[in-house]
Amino acid sequence: ASFWSKVELGPPDPIYGLTEAYKACKNPKKVNLAIGTYHDDSGKAYVLKCVRKAEKLLDSMRLNKAYPTALGNERYRRLCEELALGRDSQLMKNGVLASMQCISRTGALRVALDFIKSFYAGKKVVYLPNPTWGNHKHLIRETGLAYEQYRYYDNKTVDMDYRGMLDDITQKIPNDAVVLLHGCAHNPSGHDPSRTQWEELSDLIKQKNLLVIFDLAYHGYASGHFEVDAYAVRRFVEEGNKCVIIQSFAKNMGLYGERAGCLIITAESVEEKRKILSQCEEIIKSMYQYPPIHGARIVEKILGDTGLKAEWKLEFKLMSDRLMSIRRTLKTKLQKEGSIRNWDHIVKQCGMFCFTGLSKPQVKRLIDDHSIFLSTTGRISIGVDNFRAGFWTPRSTTLFM
Ligand code: PMP
Repeated sequence: ASFWSKVELGPPDPIYGLTEAYKACKNPKKVNLAIGTYHDDSGKAYVLKCVRKAEKLLDSMRLNKAYPTALGNERYRRLCEELALGRDSQLMKNGVLASMQCISRTGALRVALDFIKSFYAGKKVVYLPNPTWGNHKHLIRETGLAYEQYRYYDNKTVDMDYRGMLDDITQKIPNDAVVLLHGCAHNPSGHDPSRTQWEELSDLIKQKNLLVIFDLAYHGYASGHFEVDAYAVRRFVEEGNKCVIIQSFAKNMGLYGERAGCLIITAESVEEKRKILSQCEEIIKSMYQYPPIHGARIVEKILGDTGLKAEWKLEFKLMSDRLMSIRRTLKTKLQKEGSIRNWDHIVKQCGMFCFTGLSKPQVKRLIDDHSIFLSTTGRISIGVDNFRAGFWTPRSTTLFM
């Protein structure tokens, strides 16, 4: 018998599965609302102009393809720290940020979790918001750590459950445990705490001495401004919280497949930073040895050049404004079609996704009866403008009444 005869088929990937079902569907009016990437008006996955320019510059430099170091591109790492924490960050000035280039955010999180598993002196349980990005649980489980959830969103009010979050952090999460927060543009709910709420959370979390993992997945997508969107992470760090920041340029530079990410761990001294880096280096070497070089070079070119950086910010702001206008179109069209449901949450949310509040049976009917493919959680992507064409008319409006 084969060595692998006892291997069973793994669970289907929920998003990939939808894309496959969409591809197989014969209905000419089919729509895929599950895609988590930004597409332009022509419906094509968008490559930013500043990225094309940076690649041209890189090409003219005739760089070689030699191995990098395990911790990756040094200048890139400094630029990542600056984008997340600001030019004036005291920890950056003190040289106590242990940062390393990683394989996008997923890779950064995996390295961080392995490091926590081996070295964290507190309680090794990670508290995740409910709901959260599906892969968080998977990564934690595969690392061999435990996770629990805290309240974040209320299906009934289709809004954030800030009270529930606060109560759970106060009562349910033990001191010294690990809490994961989405730095901005929470996926999938699209709801973030306000500034005052972040301040309250920062105080509470510091009191409880929790280790914070900040997932900066959609940096820029909440407000269109990188400084504004970094408010929470900067506040937490400035107030002395112990933070692990995972960052990538998948979404905000459209570098999805380049896997340009960064892991930043706040240390208390230069000596401690050196030790953290040396142990993370061991983890990285045992996993993949070196990070990929091309994506980080693109980011380094853009963030390291005042002109290109300004172009990026401008281009990104247009993308983020366009997402907001897609939200408005969707809401207006639903109302025009006669839906009397309250759709305010569509424009109240931010980021690349809209958490519609549709129930599982409604989602099933949209897929089965109308060939409109979306996640069972009711999350739809607004990164692809499917709403200008009024695709649901008159197929599915009755569902939304
Ligand atoms: N965290 C969140 C909240 C995400 O939504 C995603 C991607 N959808 C990731 C992490 C993974 O990002 P990356 O492609 O940079 O690994």
